[in-house]
Order: sequence, then structure tokens, then C-alpha cells
Amino acid sequence: MIGRIHSIESFGTVDGPGIRYVIFMQGCLLRCQFCHNPDTWDTKGGKEIEVDELMADIQTYLPYMESSNGGVTVSGGEPLLQMDFLIELFTKCKELDIHTAIDSSAGCFSNTPFFMKKLEKLLQLTDLILLDLKQIDNDKHKKLTGLPNTHILEFARILSDRNVPVWIRHVLVPGKTDNPEDLKRLSAFIQTLKNVQKIEVLPYHKLGVYKWENLGLKYPLDNVEPPSEEVVRRAIDILNATQ
Ligand code: SF4
Repeated sequence: MIGRIHSIESFGTVDGPGIRYVIFMQGCLLRCQFCHNPDTWDTKGGKEIEVDELMADIQTYLPYMESSNGGVTVSGGEPLLQMDFLIELFTKCKELDIHTAIDSSAGCFSNTPFFMKKLEKLLQLTDLILLDLKQIDNDKHKKLTGLPNTHILEFARILSDRNVPVWIRHVLVPGKTDNPEDLKRLSAFIQTLKNVQKIEVLPYHKLGVYKWENLGLKYPLDNVEPPSEEVVRRAIDILNATQ
């Protein structure tokens, strides 16, 4: 099975537990204004790779994964755009007892028999989902990402119903996703889920701005600076507060 990937990070430490082999998949349907990987958007971009080629490389890092309780994470872009590839990859990971995680924004999720059939299969092979919830307010979500959040929240509920372990991730963008009332609503939603192991606040940064320029795109958040430590701390407190 051939998949389309953007890049590989063989010693990832932030996308799941332990040391992780992180595969950044190519293609995304969202257009987040703060995206630091716009070069992953094009579904026809990146490079093609066989599952077996990837597995051969993954196996050379097995000692590091085993000693750190790490594993393999597929990120993006949006990995759920290539579920057939993920199913074969994770099937082979499980044959080697490798922990598997998906970092997803669920922008391509649709509750259709076609999608759900593949998703159910994939979830059986997945130990953890890092789910990005970008903005709880639907109108603001549309402006921020180009798409509504209704199907993304539905995906979150499906994971909860199936008890799939989830880490929620929220990118904190000043003026866009740091409003305390929005964060309280997001926190209330997260508390309706019964499978959340961790909530992570990821401070917005500008490290990917040069990629927008290289692609000839105008960066929409030119005037936005990274949040202060105080604002990050406040967001962490709100999202973790019991309401
Ligand atoms: S979901 Fe991720 S890859 Fe896609 S546009 Fe948003 S930040 Fe970028």
C-alpha cells in the first residue's frame, strides 16, 4: 500500500508518550490561519512511500521506542485522509507490539457508512488519538479554519462512545482562540467526554510563516504575536477546571 507523506521525524518527543517515530501525512482539508505546515495541505503534494519501506525504517528505532514506552504517531496534514494506508501501517505496527497514535484535527470526518467502516477498523489498531479542538464557537471556527466544527465535535463524541483514549490539544492563538468564555465552553464540552486522558495547550508560534511565503501565500496572522506565559497559564487552568 502506498501513502503520501510530507516528512518523518524519527525522534519525536511531543506527539504522544515516549520517543516517537512521527510520520507527517500529506493533505489537509482545513486551512487554519495559524498553520505552521501549509506545505502539507496539497493532497497531491509530498512524496509517495510504501508501508513496507516505512516499516523497515521504523524497526531501526524500535530500541528507543521500547526503552521510552514510545511508539509511532501519524500526524499531518490530516492522517484520516489516508485511512487505508494507516490501517495497513498500524496492522504491521501491532504485529511488532508498537504503540500507535494519530494526531488529527478530524476536518475530513464524515459520519457515513463508507468513512465509519474504515474508521472502526482503524480505531481497533489505535492506542491513542491526539485530537485538535481549535475553536468551540462554530462561526469563529469557520473563520479560523475554513470549515465548521460540528463534524469535528461529532467525531470527538464518537471516540468517547467507543472509549478510545484521547489527548485534547488546543492551539492558543491570541485574539482567535484565547477568549476565556470560549475556553469555558470548550472545557464544558470536553467534560462531556469520558475518554480524555490529558488536555494540552499549545502556544501559537510563528515558526512556519516562511512556508507561507515560500508558497506565495499571504500569512493572515502577521500582526499576532505568541501568547504570554500568563495567558497560557490561564487557558490551562480554564480548560482543566471542573465546571
Ligand atoms: S489541521 Fe493542521 S495541517 Fe491542517 S490546516 Fe490546520 S494546522 Fe494546518
